[in-house]
Amino acid sequence: TGTLSSVDTEVGEAITRELVRQQSTLEMIASENFAPAAVMEAQGSVLTNKYAEGYPGKRYYGGCEHVDVIEQLAIDRVKALFGAEAANVQPHSGAQANAAAMSALLNPGDTILGLDLSHGGHLTHGMRLNFSGKLYNVVPYHVRESDMTVDMAEVESLTIEHQPKLIVAGWSAYTGRLDFAEFRRIADLVGAYLMVDMAHFAGLVAAGLHPNPVPYADVVTTTTHKTLGGPRGGVILSRQYLARKMNSAVFPGQQGGPLEHVIAAKAVSFKIAATPAFRERQERTLEGAKILADRLLAPDVAEYGISVVGGGTAVHLVLVDLRKSALNGQQGEDRLHRIGITVNRNAVPFDPRPPMISSGLRIGTPALATRGFGRTEFTEVADIIARAITGDLSEDRAIVLRERVRKLAETFPLYPQLSARLSP
Ligand code: PLP
Repeated sequence: TGTLSSVDTEVGEAITRELVRQQSTLEMIASENFAPAAVMEAQGSVLTNKYAEGYPGKRYYGGCEHVDVIEQLAIDRVKALFGAEAANVQPHSGAQANAAAMSALLNPGDTILGLDLSHGGHLTHGMRLNFSGKLYNVVPYHVRESDMTVDMAEVESLTIEHQPKLIVAGWSAYTGRLDFAEFRRIADLVGAYLMVDMAHFAGLVAAGLHPNPVPYADVVTTTTHKTLGGPRGGVILSRQYLARKMNSAVFPGQQGGPLEHVIAAKAVSFKIAATPAFRERQERTLEGAKILADRLLAPDVAEYGISVVGGGTAVHLVLVDLRKSALNGQQGEDRLHRIGITVNRNAVPFDPRPPMISSGLRIGTPALATRGFGRTEFTEVADIIARAITGDLSEDRAIVLRERVRKLAETFPLYPQLSARLSP
């Protein structure tokens, strides 16, 4: 019956420390965001207690009249948001959504095409140790070294040679826009399904600032917690003709009881994603990424062998290219961590360094845009990053940069209502 801090001080204190970490540092992990308080309120609600195997109106448990309303709202809202014919909002995560969608369309041993992990693809697009790499015969496609964009000529020739049953288009570390119409044309050459995993750019699509894959794909999967800014989770959008297959692949195929508390939080986030304020936030996200790319392409950075993959960005993230730099990905990540900016090191295509070290940094702007950052603040952050990753980062210099980070964080308070709740 007690509060968290009285029932479990260890967990309570660690959560408080995590709140302070999020408030006092600058979050630039491209796959992260800050969920609105209303989303967290829904997720922390009594829905945690409810079993609801099945789908709205067709449950295997009693007492589902209210969760039915909530799950139907989530379905209707996400369909409207993306113009989809059918939606399943139950996948517990993006990986679960992909596993379910693939299991609905494929048999073990079937051939799939996916973007190579080391070229920006996701684990679930065919990595060797992932379910996708174990269950299916994976043919990876790549980006071209000349311009670092997906090599559609290779996609076409691999498709004709290997006759895949499914082509996956989507990425975790890429800064261009995929040509969905071209993927569709190539899939149709061999009667393959086209699945687009828009986990990273779903928020941009919802805001109308990125091409929508829904009209081109048989299935579109996404997470709800990246640019979309909702709770951690997954969604499958599909054509109507696949809706029943998708539903039975999720339940009973892959999952048991749906997380109705998360589904409620998804519903809230879909409502928010349809607002003008959300669109404005996505505009700042894109603007921030462009400002960052431009700053990192400046001569005072280039002088250290540092560049930007693809020469810029069309999305919410920048991939810093350290292949020709003495600084590696691990060191770059550590330097930024030291001054209070959180990013992740990431392999870049044709990376000569091992994946655990890597020659890249993946830096995203969604979380800071949610925090309220605009042109002025992104210009300041970009300059801080440029200074932190070039030359020697002496203790004196680190202190100055850390102070600039602190000022930005202080100017844009995060979750002030949670801090207030903690104070005695
Ligand atoms: N798909 C893509 C393109 C991703 O980038 C990710 C997450 O990084 C996922 C799927 C998996 O999402 P989750 O971590 O929720 O399983």
